[in-house]
Amino acid sequence: MDAAAARAKTGRMNDNLTADRATFVTHLECSLTGEHYAADQLHNLSRAGRPLLVRYDLDSVRAALPRETLAARATDLWRWRELLPVRHTANVVSLGEIETPLVPIARSGGANVWVKDEGRLPTGSFKARGLVMAVAMAKELGVTRIAMPTNGNAGAALAAYASRVGIETIVFCPEDTPEVNVREIAAQGARVWRVNGLIDDCGAIVGRGAAEGRWFDFSTLKEPYRIEGKKTMGLELAAQLGWRLPRAIFYPTGGGTGLIGMWKAFDELERLGWIGRERPRMYAVQASGCAPIVRAFEAGEEHAERWEDAHTVAAGIRVPRAVGDFLILRAVRESEGKALAVGDPAILAAVDACARRDGLLLCPEGGATLAAYQQALRDGEVDEDEEVVLFNCATGLKYPLPAAEQRLDRHAPIDFDRL
Ligand SMILES: *Cc1c(COP(=O)(O)O)cnc(C)c1O
Repeated sequence: MDAAAARAKTGRMNDNLTADRATFVTHLECSLTGEHYAADQLHNLSRAGRPLLVRYDLDSVRAALPRETLAARATDLWRWRELLPVRHTANVVSLGEIETPLVPIARSGGANVWVKDEGRLPTGSFKARGLVMAVAMAKELGVTRIAMPTNGNAGAALAAYASRVGIETIVFCPEDTPEVNVREIAAQGARVWRVNGLIDDCGAIVGRGAAEGRWFDFSTLKEPYRIEGKKTMGLELAAQLGWRLPRAIFYPTGGGTGLIGMWKAFDELERLGWIGRERPRMYAVQASGCAPIVRAFEAGEEHAERWEDAHTVAAGIRVPRAVGDFLILRAVRESEGKALAVGDPAILAAVDACARRDGLLLCPEGGATLAAYQQALRDGEVDEDEEVVLFNCATGLKYPLPAAEQRLDRHAPIDFDRL
């Protein structure tokens, strides 16, 4: 074991950040037209109004990073450094982005069902993966003030990382965003505003301020680096399963960053020769009260129209319009998966079943993936013998829980048979 590998085993936070490792970004590319954009410059959307994707010199990555070297590193997010965009270690920000476990849920899901529990990440959601990368890049590119629309978790992750590196943040959220999210955003140093509208209405305000040069726009997919952070879910999954992938992935889809990111990760891993051509079927899960991607999927459309009157208990996937709609739909179709909608009652029943029977408290969005899996099983869309991964994207502790009101008077006689 070399010195770096030995260090990687100590388990201290940021063991992977002791060396200024080479990065391999060549350029950015418009996800719609393929037009190239220079690396190391600030970008939002492409000239075609679409997300930019980061491209790497993967042949050089392959030469520089044998799979065994990677395997010897500590398992946190920064082990993937050569496949990430940050050039200088000094710009990396971290709160301890651990590899999240695959938790079996044999009783509520089935013998081959695993939950990738993203609730264990800093700020309690997988938004940490995207924002840790986007904030590091903002720092690297000299941004001093950021604004963002959020349904809660993204704003919390932004606030945490940006405060840590001294970048000012202004966050706008729909007024019915879960209370704990609004408060954690404020507690972590952002200026947070409740707006009487949905997330795209908040996004319009951010866009206006950005056009006036007041701040940098950090809306989902409008800056290129959140996808790179989210793609670590796909990299990690492959490493955890011994360089193969599950048969199906159920992903709660709002803006779709994670689904798009994982799809990109699988492609990069194949080009590195670390996995083969097989891909999981990707199931984009939405709530029936806000299912623009499902509607477009079923209609055979390439883009999704805005969903009016969006409502669901799963706030993280209440996204009426996604700028990466065509990327989500493309990944779902190429993978031979589907876009599926589930109702709030099924979501809440799934959260309840998983907590009661498997002891794992899912967030509502995670509950949606379990509900969708159960529905897909009933419809013959998946087989119970197939290995399936569900994404639980935030800790269930961030959400209102059912009341538990029974009280015991220790001074009165206690009827132990009733307890
Ligand atoms: C943001 C969020 C989602 C949706 O993630 P996308 O990658 O933007 O589609 C799902 N669940 C939770 C808990 C979230 O915070």
